[in-house]
Amino acid sequence: MLRFRNTLTGKIEEFQPLRAGEVRFYYCGPTVWDFGHIGNFRSAIAADIVRRYLKFKGFKVTHVMNITDVEDRIIAKSQEAGLSIDDYTAKYIEALWEDFDALGCERPEIVPRATRHIPEMIDLIEKLLQTGHAYQSEGSVYYRIASFPEYGKLSKINFAGNIAGASDRVDTDKYEKEDARDFALWKEPANANEPAWDAPLGRGRPGWHIECSAMSMKYLGETFDIHAGGIDLVFPHHENEIAQSEGATGKQFVRYWIHFEHLKVDGETMSKSKGNYYTYRDVAAKGYSAGAVRYFLLSVPYNKQINFTFDALGGAEKTVVGLRDFRARLGEAKTTPGLNDVLHQAAVLAAAEFEAGMDDDLNTSVALAVIHNLTRVVNTALARKKLQEENKRELLELLERFDSVLNIFGVEQHEMLDSEIQSLIDGRQEARRRRDFGRADEIRDELAGRGIILEDSKDGVRWRRKQ
Ligand SMILES: [Zn+2]
Repeated sequence: MLRFRNTLTGKIEEFQPLRAGEVRFYYCGPTVWDFGHIGNFRSAIAADIVRRYLKFKGFKVTHVMNITDVEDRIIAKSQEAGLSIDDYTAKYIEALWEDFDALGCERPEIVPRATRHIPEMIDLIEKLLQTGHAYQSEGSVYYRIASFPEYGKLSKINFAGNIAGASDRVDTDKYEKEDARDFALWKEPANANEPAWDAPLGRGRPGWHIECSAMSMKYLGETFDIHAGGIDLVFPHHENEIAQSEGATGKQFVRYWIHFEHLKVDGETMSKSKGNYYTYRDVAAKGYSAGAVRYFLLSVPYNKQINFTFDALGGAEKTVVGLRDFRARLGEAKTTPGLNDVLHQAAVLAAAEFEAGMDDDLNTSVALAVIHNLTRVVNTALARKKLQEENKRELLELLERFDSVLNIFGVEQHEMLDSEIQSLIDGRQEARRRRDFGRADEIRDELAGRGIILEDSKDGVRWRRKQ
């Protein structure tokens, strides 16, 4: 029974989709003004786990992740660079997918871009104007929070009294509003150079919050199952999404809200000014593998803060190499026919414990511990040559099933084992003996591509790993 913490109710709840067997899931995706940082990828990987585990449980998943490609930073940066917002964001959208793929995230079914859904946003704003949830002022349109008494039900913030400035994300901007809490749905451009769209509301551009309401309801319906994002989005972004969507439809917008906790660096909030700000690319450039980054980010459950340190990442790197070597050794191990019952019981127990851990609010640290326990038992059996043919098949299948959720064994090619390298070298010697120098060179190149350098000497061929 899959359960997770629903921010809306504040309780751990059993998950039941609206339509049996199907899950409609929206994740607030990136703003493509720069390369993604490791905190962004903590969220992206947590969303990937939600998606993968729902599939593991047998649900058909429709996962939508938006790309915010118009907002203040993008406008400022693109103007600095003298580019259109499309030309400016193209590089970061391409980089997003490179990083996303490298980190082993499955691509969502639908990835709508804000700039491609302006008409849907305009429609929604018009509906809010008609129902009295919005008003026009000085060329912009604002949401009237006083019209939605449930405002605050997600964040549980008490809005009695003056809340202007209660959060630096409250939209206390230069526009004319009835109430300081009201937020912009549509903004009049500040100058003629700002990107803007023609609309019956007047020429302008959408606020950030309206895009997620418009795009999620377009692809998932007026009421859908799961909405997820970083915990910093609870207020005001998700609170505003609820006000917009429920204001327009009169129906419940989302049934389960899941929020991913913060990532800290050396115990502090990551920020460019503190010098502790890392994109995924910065970390990769220091020589850490994507597999290690993913493993590290999964080592703490999504509902707890994670503290990023390079020491911890180095530890994750060793762990991942160890796990991949384990799987390779298991795959190569010689077996006797039949089934060893002790190992079979260990596999059955691991499968049950893995699922129990993941069912319990997607606890990835329990899931990883289950895998480590299993490797210890199997390693002992391997050392004693107790592995039997049916155990080997069962265990390899089980690892594959675990990896359909965690994707830690498969993020990159495993490091080649000495035995694999030696067999390729033998094949190359054999090719040379039959004067098939083309094949011999191919093998040398293949090894070089995996970081293995060959050195011919009078005692035969020696090899070393490239440092
Ligand atoms: Zn959003």
